[in-house]
Amino acid sequence: MENLRIPGPTPCPDEVLQAMTKQMINHRGPEFARILNRVTESLKILFQTRNDIFLLTGSGTGGLEAAVVNTLSPGDTVLSVSIGVFGDRFTSIAEQYGAEVIPLKFEWGKAADPDEVRRALEKDPKIKAVLVTHNETSTGVTNDLASLSSMIKEFDKLLIVDAISSLGSINLPVDKWGCDIAVTGSQKGWMAPPGLAMVSVSETAWQAHANARMPRFYWDFSRARSYLERGQTPWTPAVSTVFAMNTSLGMMLDEGLPNIIARHARIGQLARDGVKSLGLTLFADENFASNTVTAINAPEGVNANDLRKILLAENEIVLGGGQQRLDGMIFRIGHLGMVAEEDIRVVISALKGALAKVR
Ligand SMILES: *Cc1c(COP(=O)(O)O)cnc(C)c1O
Repeated sequence: MENLRIPGPTPCPDEVLQAMTKQMINHRGPEFARILNRVTESLKILFQTRNDIFLLTGSGTGGLEAAVVNTLSPGDTVLSVSIGVFGDRFTSIAEQYGAEVIPLKFEWGKAADPDEVRRALEKDPKIKAVLVTHNETSTGVTNDLASLSSMIKEFDKLLIVDAISSLGSINLPVDKWGCDIAVTGSQKGWMAPPGLAMVSVSETAWQAHANARMPRFYWDFSRARSYLERGQTPWTPAVSTVFAMNTSLGMMLDEGLPNIIARHARIGQLARDGVKSLGLTLFADENFASNTVTAINAPEGVNANDLRKILLAENEIVLGGGQQRLDGMIFRIGHLGMVAEEDIRVVISALKGALAKVR
């Protein structure tokens, strides 16, 4: 069987796949309501929040778009902190909908510098909201969201977080860190297939929502809230993915959030130590290296995609490539969701063999 080691979609446990073979049910009936309520309550535990949580049918990007259109108006000034491809995507979404975006970009591979974010906030008092990526999947960097969020809250700004590849894997106490909206997706750390974005919405975000004038229909949080009161979603949801999440969340709660976070930390370290032991270097600043995805520089004179091809052909290991200008320069090992030490050990040993061939 293939060892799928990309940062989403991630492999699913057999129990989760089994859950998806269940016959369709009425998405406006009592059984679906029970499942939806159970999934929502389980997510609140894993988001460490008492805020509202909605399941939106779509991928993570849909959740990011939902966050923007539900809280902002055209012309609103927004500070968008970007440390890579996904931060840039978040910036584009806000721009597309007419926000006045101040982009604050950091060198790829580095984390956002809180002092620079502070200066940007001091410079423009009109800033209403700040967009931040918690874990930048394209570069393998985890921002210091605890520091960033406490500072952003000092300035009393709305904090919207792309936590797509961190929530459920890396510690992110949504309430403690004052995240007004946090977004994730079912195919990342949740051991479920693609199909659902999950978003948490704070009281402050609801206040912003009340005045937000960006166009929205499918993503409207007011509709999501009024339907959830009846155990429903406004539109037909990805029913099978909800079944899958119901099972995977049960497994996650059995393991326990602190254990899940510790497992990802252990395996992240194993991945970093492993590639370094082969003489490779990390793309990310190691002080901020991600515990869900490791980005590795291709050795001098080697195209990273050639290494990936060898691993696929000879070891049935699928690694992520570099995105945009990092294509061919780096490769990425995904280690989130259903992942154990052994899954990474075999990658490191296969990588050793592949390096011997290309060097
Ligand atoms: C995967 C990912 C996205 C995009 O999610 P899709 O589900 O592919 O739309 C956005 N941001 C981050 C940080 C991601 O890891």
